[in-house]
Amino acid sequence: MARPGRGQHPRRTRAGVARRLLSVVPGVRADRPAARRAVGAGDPRTRPRRRPRRPPARCAGRPVGAGGRAAHAGVPPGAHTPVVVGARAADRGSAQGDDPGVTAIGVDVGGTSVRAGVVDAHGSVLDTARGSTPSGEAELEDVICSTIETLRREHEVSAVGLAVAGFIGNDRRSVMFAPHLAWRAAPVADRIASRIGLPVVLEHDANAAALAEYHFGALRGARVGLLIAIGTGIGGALLIDGKLFRGAHGVAPELGHLRLMPGGRPCPCGKSGCWERYCSGTALSATAVDLLSRHPSSTLVREAARDSRALTGRKVAAAAREGDPVALLAMADLAKWLGEGLALVADVYDPELIVIAGGVSESGPLFLDDARDRYRAVVTGAGHRPLARLRIGHLGDDAGLVGAALACGLG
Ligand SMILES: [Zn+2]
Repeated sequence: MARPGRGQHPRRTRAGVARRLLSVVPGVRADRPAARRAVGAGDPRTRPRRRPRRPPARCAGRPVGAGGRAAHAGVPPGAHTPVVVGARAADRGSAQGDDPGVTAIGVDVGGTSVRAGVVDAHGSVLDTARGSTPSGEAELEDVICSTIETLRREHEVSAVGLAVAGFIGNDRRSVMFAPHLAWRAAPVADRIASRIGLPVVLEHDANAAALAEYHFGALRGARVGLLIAIGTGIGGALLIDGKLFRGAHGVAPELGHLRLMPGGRPCPCGKSGCWERYCSGTALSATAVDLLSRHPSSTLVREAARDSRALTGRKVAAAAREGDPVALLAMADLAKWLGEGLALVADVYDPELIVIAGGVSESGPLFLDDARDRYRAVVTGAGHRPLARLRIGHLGDDAGLVGAALACGLG
């Protein structure tokens, strides 16, 4: 569903949209917003709506203590859940001062940080809050609740979506497994909903990014569109006529762990030679470390001498932009493996459009052309078949949280 342009947007009643938001969340009836009343906030269909306002400029980047907010969110007193409040992050259609309509909170739960944003029906991010990802299950849920409650102080929202890098149950209520997070067979949506008094739905983070790019970004209009999110690892999502393909058990498509190199680099998933071991921020770092002994003049040598783990993919990408020879070779290796993997998944799905998202996509100009050439050269039937277009995502870091808000019915 493409977003109509400004001035073409059909006007919906707030009550109608609010009912629709609630109706997509299992177990919550659209005409009975009991969850909202449970926290004493009144009926959202009749209560006067407060126009979202931006936090004062002095608040941008200010760490917020757990104190009152933690208590409001049901966080145990004394729990250490620092949250940083951000300013308005992006505007994708609603002009300053326009009525943002119904808003929802999307939360991108990553391996290093939790980033939440208030998103309106135009896909604009009105406000953000973030915290660090703790290692414990309860502590992680404390941080998530704290970011949500921080935003609710300033904005009225109707539902919450969580984008999670992990296996999500078909009912989108539980996390089955998340390699970089503490949850194992955890009923996360119900636990968070009971604490914040709002409907909560889960979505795989790559699926969320694909939804966001389909409605507001680079995947718009694609009948068969594939999103490859390249960060610490690889996440994949497939949209067919705007609908996510989830497979029989909700875990498809798990592209990052396709084995491209039998006997290759070991992977945290338990296998070896997985695609993401050669095409990710982690892979950039590993490849650069492998190459350093043969290139002592590289600026990365001194960095790696102190601690090779400090040579992150982000640092390698930055060095590549500066022309460092090792970093450029590592980037070329990533481009090769990206092209190889794209050819493989294109053989399976035959998409018309492939969007590259995730942190590594910021370095797109350094690898995209080479990856495209490799893909064109090695795909089955090369030269005798139509090929997918390949482009970088438009929404950057916002894709996950915007898509999480869409997943709970916004838009
Ligand atoms: Zn793997």
